[in-house]
Amino acid sequence: MKKIALHWKIMIGMILGIVFGFIMTTISWGKGFTGDWIAPFGTIFVNLLKLIAVPLILASLIKGISDLKDISKFKTIGGRTIVIYVITTIIAITIGLLIVNMTKPGDGITSETIEKLTAEYASNEKISERLAEADKQKESGPLQFIVDMVPQNAIAAMSDNKLMLQVIFFAIFLGISMLLINEKHAAPLKNFFDSLNEVVLKMVDLIMLTAPYAVFALLANVVVTSDDPDILLALFKYAAVVFSGLLLMIVFYCLLVLFITKKSPLWFLKEISPAQLLAFSTSSSAATLPVTMERVEEHIGVDKEVSSFVLPVGATINMDGTSLYQAVAAVFIMQVLWPEGLTFSNQITIVLTALLASIGSAAVPGAGMVMLVIVLEAIGFPADKLPIGLALIFAVDRPLDMMRTVINVTGDATVSMLVAKSVGKLGEPHIKEWDDHYEEVK
Ligand code: ASP
Repeated sequence: MKKIALHWKIMIGMILGIVFGFIMTTISWGKGFTGDWIAPFGTIFVNLLKLIAVPLILASLIKGISDLKDISKFKTIGGRTIVIYVITTIIAITIGLLIVNMTKPGDGITSETIEKLTAEYASNEKISERLAEADKQKESGPLQFIVDMVPQNAIAAMSDNKLMLQVIFFAIFLGISMLLINEKHAAPLKNFFDSLNEVVLKMVDLIMLTAPYAVFALLANVVVTSDDPDILLALFKYAAVVFSGLLLMIVFYCLLVLFITKKSPLWFLKEISPAQLLAFSTSSSAATLPVTMERVEEHIGVDKEVSSFVLPVGATINMDGTSLYQAVAAVFIMQVLWPEGLTFSNQITIVLTALLASIGSAAVPGAGMVMLVIVLEAIGFPADKLPIGLALIFAVDRPLDMMRTVINVTGDATVSMLVAKSVGKLGEPHIKEWDDHYEEVK
């Protein structure tokens, strides 16, 4: 029998999970059962992916850099990556602003809907948490994010997934220093990281064997914990605007792949699809990172010298989906609650702050909403209306988070191809299966 491709298996798992979730919402004990007996399998899967993120970044980045032989190449890769990331993010924000201004989803929101949403969510503790987190972020100075990148303790940095940029910094520093010493002395360390890298990629293959079951659990849980469908319907137009903007981004990436790398966009989407499906199911680009790296390197053919830098950095600083969402959400909230604030200069401020905010957003579920508060505050949105503003969009945040995370991951993969192409490092795929050496140890 022909093997079913991984992305189909994952897709079947997702659909079954959604159907199962809906059935469970109709049964009195369904929600409790799903939470107690199904959801933990999703959590275990996400934990496994997070577990290997730090060793993978370390090993692959150190290997990538120490293979370079020439530091100037790293400067070229680094410079191009950052420039392309900033450009794609600005394009994403601009697309968001254009469609939200053209379609005006805020105009259809009645005062009853506002009241209903406010009553339901304005004092929700998750909203208060996001507001408090935004306050904390705001207090820091303009250079704080650079200070935050430099760890004072490498082991402490590696022990916290939120400190991914610190791990990246340490790995780059170590890799560059390895290039600068005698090859003979660097060799043992290089072999160690080479080997660690191979092993961790095998761990990704093994974890992915469970992906179809894990996405079942993740999506069943999303369905049983989601909100009342009536409320979702009221926000349908807003959600549709975010969704169409995100779709346009996919088209944009496909055009880049076609015209710049000269590869088929359909092939690109097919090869990257397991990472996209996981991004959708987990709402976290950080948790998806190991899979994105495996797909981009083995299935698309981007050399590790490029992918090992572009992808981890992208997972933390390049969030095209999140920034598009921030632009649409900010303008939507203004259309409903503060139309007088919709000036041209405020929209330009949105471009700049959404750009910085998407760089600063953590790659975890719901992070985009925290930064949205900062974007709104930057344009002088009335503070007393902030909780109401967030209440307006809260009900659809989770599905939109799932979708924007897909775009975040696809954007990173696209940019890694562009950078690889520009430095002659886009080669042929070399797929490794989990059981390539299984016979030898069976
Ligand atoms: N969940 C998104 C990510 O991990 C971030 C966000 O937009 O909330 O990429």
